[in-house]
Amino acid sequence: MKKKDKIQTEEFDLCVIGGGSGGVRAARVAAQLGAKVALAESYRMGGTCVIRGCVPKKLLSYASQYKKDLQQAQYFGWECDVGDFNMETFYNNKHKYIAKLEAIYENLLKSSGVTIFNTHAKVTSPNTVLLEDISKEISTKYILIATGAKPFVPKVEGSSYAITSNEFFLINQKPKSITIFGGGYIAVEFACIAKGLGIATHLVYRGQRLLKDFDYDITEELTKSMLAQGINIQLQNNVTKLERHAHATEVTTHLANGGKIVSDLAMFATGRVPNIDNLGLEEVGIKTDAAGAIIVDKNNATNIDNVYAIGDVINHVQLTPVAIRQGQFLVERLFSDKQSYIDYSSIPTAVFSNPEIGVVGLTEEQARKQYGSIKIYKTQFKTLKDGFSEAQGQVLMKLVVSTKDNKILGCHMLGKYSAEIIQVVAIAIKLGVTKDDFDNTLAVHPTVAEELVTLK
Ligand code: FAD
Repeated sequence: MKKKDKIQTEEFDLCVIGGGSGGVRAARVAAQLGAKVALAESYRMGGTCVIRGCVPKKLLSYASQYKKDLQQAQYFGWECDVGDFNMETFYNNKHKYIAKLEAIYENLLKSSGVTIFNTHAKVTSPNTVLLEDISKEISTKYILIATGAKPFVPKVEGSSYAITSNEFFLINQKPKSITIFGGGYIAVEFACIAKGLGIATHLVYRGQRLLKDFDYDITEELTKSMLAQGINIQLQNNVTKLERHAHATEVTTHLANGGKIVSDLAMFATGRVPNIDNLGLEEVGIKTDAAGAIIVDKNNATNIDNVYAIGDVINHVQLTPVAIRQGQFLVERLFSDKQSYIDYSSIPTAVFSNPEIGVVGLTEEQARKQYGSIKIYKTQFKTLKDGFSEAQGQVLMKLVVSTKDNKILGCHMLGKYSAEIIQVVAIAIKLGVTKDDFDNTLAVHPTVAEELVTLK
């Protein structure tokens, strides 16, 4: 802001900071309920999910599966070549598609009556937000912070030679090789994507097992499958230093066990931290926890009256549908008679690894701790398509059932269609479905999902 610029003040009922999954939904619904709403977005409308998260990641995941599909197609009689993956073509098409989605988001907001400010926003008091770059102050009844999270990069010598998932989405030439650090869902997904695209892939994780919060059988089977695909997985190892020699294009990763990996790219997928840079939290006295997440109560209210927070910035459950629902329920509570609260139990989730994972409810380990006596039903098989075409890959299905009342406490799936199937299983589990209900349901044959109702 130039010194002489005069700050103009505009009045609103609600000022939303962040145009991601949660912020966009909150702004739109509040405006539809009659509130005068401002939304500030400093980067691109749609936030992480649309611009550099769920959506482009799923597109990459689709891209990474064509090699197997084309190989299988030959088995089914199609005369086609597998060929190579052209990252530039993918990048250009992805860029166009994401720009289209971004415009849709923007139009939805505008047509609902939301005033958009494409700039960084900072909270300056419980009722004011400063848009410094455009010399504007928003005076508002309520403030909603929905600024999301950003990749965490550990303090390692040479860490600037590595990228994060944000930059992976900007690559338009296929690297020959990549070393990914991390063992969470983003690390696992990108390792499978890279391998599927024909990139030599190394995955280095300091922990004992990948996806440590998932059911043991699922992660064991996924790890086996990733190794079988040729991904070099190094568990209980860690990056100690990254190096790039003058004029070299490759990055050398030095490892805790004394080893070295040389690859075109190195990428940190080592967690995400709340996005609170220059947000004015300290000045206004908005409390955060040790990780920098904004502390909220069950109303999504911060310790300062009229200031609320939702989504990844509160570091509760970092998923798009959760941020969206938090945003929707909050503004409904503020601007209508509807007083709904999220039930955080049994949130279904997917990992778009290869093979993909779909889970809902308790893992075997969690159920044993909570319920003591449980029953486990498990099956492992090849899909008809993979069996016919002699392709690699197994489906694993597991039901965790309470001995006391036969209620299904958890469902864990690995393999094709798991993400799609788990969405429907989640409805049944929310309704308190029992194993008898599954048994009494007739199968749809021949499908993958039918195995769920024939588990013995
Ligand atoms: P975001 O969507 O991150 O939006 C926050 C917005 O605020 C951003 O656009 C940012 O630019 C803006 N902003 C920040 N500070 C300011 C400021 N001071 N002023 C103005 N604007 C500001 N979730 C799923 O459910 N399924 C998936 O498959 C999935 N895959 C993912 C893959 C990756 C690689 C990543 C990184 C995330 C993925 N997620 C997935 C998580 C999901 O993207 C997030 O949970 C979700 O986007 C959170 O929404 P949000 O509204 O809290 O924040």
